[in-house]
Amino acid sequence: MTAPYCEICGESVPMDLDHVGIAAEYVHTDDRNAQDDYLVHIECWNHHTVEWIDPA
Ligand SMILES: [Zn+2]
Repeated sequence: MTAPYCEICGESVPMDLDHVGIAAEYVHTDDRNAQDDYLVHIECWNHHTVEWIDPA
């Protein structure tokens, strides 16, 4: 089984190293929610989200 790829930089993400798992939930009001799961490197995540506002 090949290692999954980082969604930001495209490099492989070894599952035995620190990484970030992102669950993107598509919330629809008519109850057809769906979810996509992504993996990214911690460094990529921190770089990508540095200007994001902290969640409430
Ligand atoms: Zn990456």
